Amino acid sequence: PYNGPSADQILEKRKKFLGPSLFYYYQKPLNIVEGKMQYLYDENGRRYLDAFAGIVTVSCGHCHPEVLNAITEQNKLLQHATTIYLHHAISDFAEALASKMPGNLKVVYFVNSGSEANELAMLMARLYSGNLGMISLRNAYHGGSSSTIGLTALNTWKYPIPEGEIHHVINPDPFRGVFGSDATRYAKDVQDHIEYGTSGKVAGFIAETIQGVGGAVELAPGYLKQVYDIVRKAGGVCIADEVQTGFGRTGSHYWGFETQGVIPDIVTMAKGIGNGLPLGGLAVLRVIDKEKRQAHCADVGSHLIGRLRSLQDKHDIIGDVRGRGLMVGVELVTDRKEKTPAKAETAILFEKMRELGVLLGKGGLHGNVFRIKPPMCFTKDDADYLVDALDYAMSEL
Ligand code: PMP
Repeated sequence: PYNGPSADQILEKRKKFLGPSLFYYYQKPLNIVEGKMQYLYDENGRRYLDAFAGIVTVSCGHCHPEVLNAITEQNKLLQHATTIYLHHAISDFAEALASKMPGNLKVVYFVNSGSEANELAMLMARLYSGNLGMISLRNAYHGGSSSTIGLTALNTWKYPIPEGEIHHVINPDPFRGVFGSDATRYAKDVQDHIEYGTSGKVAGFIAETIQGVGGAVELAPGYLKQVYDIVRKAGGVCIADEVQTGFGRTGSHYWGFETQGVIPDIVTMAKGIGNGLPLGGLAVLRVIDKEKRQAHCADVGSHLIGRLRSLQDKHDIIGDVRGRGLMVGVELVTDRKEKTPAKAETAILFEKMRELGVLLGKGGLHGNVFRIKPPMCFTKDDADYLVDALDYAMSEL
């Protein structure tokens, strides 16, 4: 049994000693004291189905025994290896990652977070091309550090700081985008933007293949292929941000960019690679392979998406169900034709789902998208429970 401080005591201390910009989920924030695979437990021992930890880092499951064992054994021997000396784990891990990559994506740089990875990728693109301008999509999230904040194009995460030359092009969003799923017209906007808004040369282009923070938005099919050609012709480097889409989560493919049939010049990753640590070990890759998690994501994901689509027939508030594997978005609208974001309703349902023991993510500029990104050990039973709970909560609305 837990005998630490109560949620209220923690909150009070947090208010006193931690920065005021931190926010928390739920009107009465959760005090989580334990995690086991796809479940979290609060201080009273109440269990929650964690349908969101997949984004916050945990790919294999909370405290996965094999990952835990690898961490423990390594910690007993040596806690920190630096690249100024040799250590086999670093080169073994790089080799294992390279073996998962197509084309000549064979060289790895290790950093500590997604923001740092994107910052380094941007620096490399600028140094390699000799150009300054970077292109990213509206509704993108690429980090909150002082230079990646420029790539991020969601006003909720923007601050008035110098950003360098960054161009945000029209988002190829099949649900809300002005050109629907017409990749060619969105790609034309990139070409136009380069012609009108730059010297004709750019440093690079960066995109997530399914936007995470932006609300599980999958780019119009065929978009990246056309845009990569345009960007390369303008001297730029193509970067795929796989922080949220990598490691088999999409089910159909190991990397998100593969769903668009492209090979980027640089791929950035974080979070899921570490199962909770700033950077993980080989154990995470091993577990994902050994437990056949990519196939599992495809299987459970199609079941979940199928059930959510049936729920859409029943509840008008569900404007869109989208995603791949276990990276799923449910966008809520008050009017299907106008696609009016159901902001208040989403907030109510979010709390109700917590009461029913299911933790979801929220996203999109209007906070009207449920983001479902559980640890990859999430089962069909878990998916059924989630959908039944959502059905019940929506019926009560
Ligand atoms: N890229 C994407 C797509 C992300 O979702 C995030 C974090 N949510 C980042 C980059 C930044 O990663 P980090 O928080 O590790 O800096």
